[in-house]
Amino acid sequence: MRPALLDPLFAPVTALPGVGPRLGALFNRLLGTAERPARVIDLLFHLPHSVIDRSRRPPIRDTREGDIVTLTVRVAEHRPPPPGRARAPFRVLVEDGTGDVTLVFFSMTQARIDKMLPLGETRVVSGRIEFWEGFRQMVHPDRIMREEEARDQPLVEPVYGQTEGLASRTIARIAQAALGRLPHLPEWQDAAWLAQQHSPDVAAALAALHRPESATAFAPESAARKRLAYDELLASQLALALMRATRRRASGRVNVGDGRLVAAVTQALPFSLTEGQRQAVADIRRDLAEPQRMLRLLQGDVGSGKTVVALLAMASAVEAGRQAALMAPTDILARQHFARLEPLARAAGITMALLTGREKGAARAATLAALESGAAQIAVGTHALFQDAVAFHDLALAVIDEQHRFGVHQRFGLSRKGEGVDMLVMTATPIPRTLTLTCFGDMDVSVLREKPAGRKPIDTRAMPLERLHDVVDGLHRALARGARVYWVCPLVEESETIDVAAAQERFEDLQRIFGPVVGLLHGKMSGRDKDAAMGAFQRGETRILVATTVIEVGVDVPEATIMVIEHAERFGLAQLHQLRGRIGRGADASTCLLLYKAPPGEVAKARINIMRETEDGFRIAEEDLRLRGEGEILGTRQSGAPAFHLARIEDDADLLRIARDDARLILERDPGLAGERGQALRILLYLFERDEAIRLLRAG
Ligand code: ADP
Ligand code: MG
Repeated sequence: MRPALLDPLFAPVTALPGVGPRLGALFNRLLGTAERPARVIDLLFHLPHSVIDRSRRPPIRDTREGDIVTLTVRVAEHRPPPPGRARAPFRVLVEDGTGDVTLVFFSMTQARIDKMLPLGETRVVSGRIEFWEGFRQMVHPDRIMREEEARDQPLVEPVYGQTEGLASRTIARIAQAALGRLPHLPEWQDAAWLAQQHSPDVAAALAALHRPESATAFAPESAARKRLAYDELLASQLALALMRATRRRASGRVNVGDGRLVAAVTQALPFSLTEGQRQAVADIRRDLAEPQRMLRLLQGDVGSGKTVVALLAMASAVEAGRQAALMAPTDILARQHFARLEPLARAAGITMALLTGREKGAARAATLAALESGAAQIAVGTHALFQDAVAFHDLALAVIDEQHRFGVHQRFGLSRKGEGVDMLVMTATPIPRTLTLTCFGDMDVSVLREKPAGRKPIDTRAMPLERLHDVVDGLHRALARGARVYWVCPLVEESETIDVAAAQERFEDLQRIFGPVVGLLHGKMSGRDKDAAMGAFQRGETRILVATTVIEVGVDVPEATIMVIEHAERFGLAQLHQLRGRIGRGADASTCLLLYKAPPGEVAKARINIMRETEDGFRIAEEDLRLRGEGEILGTRQSGAPAFHLARIEDDADLLRIARDDARLILERDPGLAGERGQALRILLYLFERDEAIRLLRAG
């Protein structure tokens, strides 16, 4: 149970003075979730991102376009809208002896103007100076005050992320009230460290950020910001370390084989393994043989050959006399894996079964029976694998392909189908080091760095959409040479239906031009139609496959050498990289055409340039992180990875490493968090809602 000390912080925002139901609803929109309303703590962690500095008070004569200034002025003239033109603005001329400014108000009554800016009186106004036909004006000043009022106004105002109807100024006011609710918290950080960093305590740090004296309060090196970032990182690393410690204790089983099946599968491969693949297989076999449960991430760029590693890992489990399962996020991918892997397994005398939502009736019943009896040694499938009806004879290893496509609960769902099941999760999306740490803590990682030999670099080009007809001309020539082409249609965020319509339309256009060699694949098609479309393209019966991003994940047709991406500016870097990874898999040179809507925005331009510069997924991921910030990157949101409120992965990578080591050391000295600092650290964990980690403490 959360200590009562923290209760005021976890109360709804409406518990604060001045927050009624109307404001409460706005705060909920800004900071709440579907499950719970906005709370005081959410508001405290909702830090301003910048400031407006109103400390400049020049004479009017010296003000320039765009300046934010605070002026002491005399109200010289009221100019109401002319009769019959009620929608024209109300203008008020003010002056200070060096010049004048017209204040402009829309939808304002004479009565309100009289009250705010009475003729002949002196007022202090603050806002942005603009020039209009050579005259200075200020549209809806942010502040209009009497002189004596102006004296106690802060000259630097925090600017918050807002929601419609909820102004920064209101958030700032309520944030002050929230600061007032902060209880006295025990110090959980090491005193020597705090002194060395010149860190304020939590309350002072929060106050410094909600009442900034200048924009430097938010700078990466600001002591207040770093203090809070470190608190958050330490909470996350401590929670991960606790979970890991518990997992260590959760015993797995020893799965040792004699290596015969692995050797047989390796023999059946039409290629030899890369060094990285060999190493990964060795890592996995060592883990399987340990009595602890394996939790290993296999990280390898698109096309680096993770699937084969999965197969050899599964063969190892079968050697140990047990079963293994491989789960893929889509039907298409599960079927492709099965088609590829089953012949290799069979060559080694291993039986493999396919199970997706589409296996029905007698065939499904037979598969379920085979898994339950152990007659099927490896299962390949989709989410269908961890449904209730599925029982394994003795599952020892679960492999999750494209792990970021699954939620946490789904990833672990499969591991509950057996006893002490070892887990291998694979990701085609390279995760930068900093992010693996935050998402997976000390999870073991194997990396496939090099691509299989013989791959040619992909020629990536960018051109405006207007040159679509040139692209079509180029395709005529390419098809004549026997090329196979993916044509990816724009992603429409708002609606999959529009998405599909766009793909349908492009499909019809291209079919008119190229005839029956054009195929179509999108997410709304039935499973059977998807298979048919994919199969026809794989066999070369269709040569241009128009698709939505359903092909993004894992699809492998080595003969495809051209990829056209329409509206490339709408895709994120990671997604572009994934898409491009569909080509360049065979021996022939490949080309990727990024068609963008001109003129591209800054970010789109940067993305396209990176795509042209490199095929290195790790670099692309780092750049993506830089361009986007950590929040959305690489599907971490779907994966349920913790998003940070206060820490910023780009700026705080060093802090993250320190926090990880710190967390380890803390638990080495005080594994139950029972000492004085341990008790304070428990409060830290509650503050950042790592309650699940505290439950582990209790259990252990
Ligand atoms: P990903 O890591 O993106 O899942 P895949 O496992 O689909 O990549 O492998 C991509 C392609 O590379 C497949 O066609 C696969 O057969 C091939 N491949 C994998 N390993 C090797 C290797 N060592 N040498 C040559 N080709 C390989
Ligand atoms: Mg793959």
